[in-house]
Amino acid sequence: MALLQGRKGIIFGVANEKSIAWAIARAMNNEGAELAFTYAGDALEKRVRPLAESVGAKLILPCDVTKDDQIRAVFDQVRTGFGHLDILVHAIAFANKEDLKSDFVATSRDGYRLAQDVSAYSLTVLARHALPLMEGRHGSILTLSYLGAEKVIPRYNVMGVAKAALEASVRYLAADLGPKGIRVNAISAGPIRTLASAGISGFLEMLHHVEAKAPLRRGVTAEEVAGTALFLASDLSSGVTGEVIYVDAGYNIMGM
Ligand code: NAD
Repeated sequence: MALLQGRKGIIFGVANEKSIAWAIARAMNNEGAELAFTYAGDALEKRVRPLAESVGAKLILPCDVTKDDQIRAVFDQVRTGFGHLDILVHAIAFANKEDLKSDFVATSRDGYRLAQDVSAYSLTVLARHALPLMEGRHGSILTLSYLGAEKVIPRYNVMGVAKAALEASVRYLAADLGPKGIRVNAISAGPIRTLASAGISGFLEMLHHVEAKAPLRRGVTAEEVAGTALFLASDLSSGVTGEVIYVDAGYNIMGM
């Protein structure tokens, strides 16, 4: 039987066919999951809708995670459409471009707040709404992080601080939701060319550094991240929660 046969999931974070969330969605759909999708704003709908429809999605909903009314509407429709939920994928991050260019010390209050709100707090609010739909179903919540959460990566700046909050949130949420049988984990992915990574100045330098120094002497693909997402969403990882799992060709283990 397919790994996720009969499971229902919602994917937050598809922007286009290069999105890590899209690779995860395809992998989950191949393993039998029925998926709902959200898109952040009208401009992205025309990209997300055809992708979502290509894997048979019926629930394709607008959701800017800074808007509580949109989040509420999404979960109301998921309750009506699915009845319950087994999987939630959070693959969302945003920071102002100017905060990913210069020194971290220059981060504005608004820039800091925005990065935290979109990239970290959103996991907590989505988990809270998913909870009543996941209770008693061994639900699995996944998010995407990056090494900049724990080491200084030049120009990753405010996003690194947001990822640190995100990884801490994974642990607190795992502790809160574990007694209800719901698991919460993060994948810390190596650099991959996407819309979001194009906004980080010096991204190619990060990528080339990983390719040269990682134990596997290469970067990783979105499909490799999706493989670990499948593991974390399925019963194969039933004993794993509160973890940050690296899919980075081993780069994080290197000291020099
Ligand atoms: P992407 O641009 O395809 O995905 C980012 C998503 O965030 C987009 O779908 C965008 O619509 C969404 N988003 C931004 N603001 C939003 C808001 N207010 N409300 C709802 N959605 C919003 O890029 P990606 O690289 O696939 O990013 C997915 C996740 O993976 C992010 O959390 C990113 O930090 C993380 N990640 C990426 C890399 C990489 O190198 N690409 C590495 C490690 C972790």
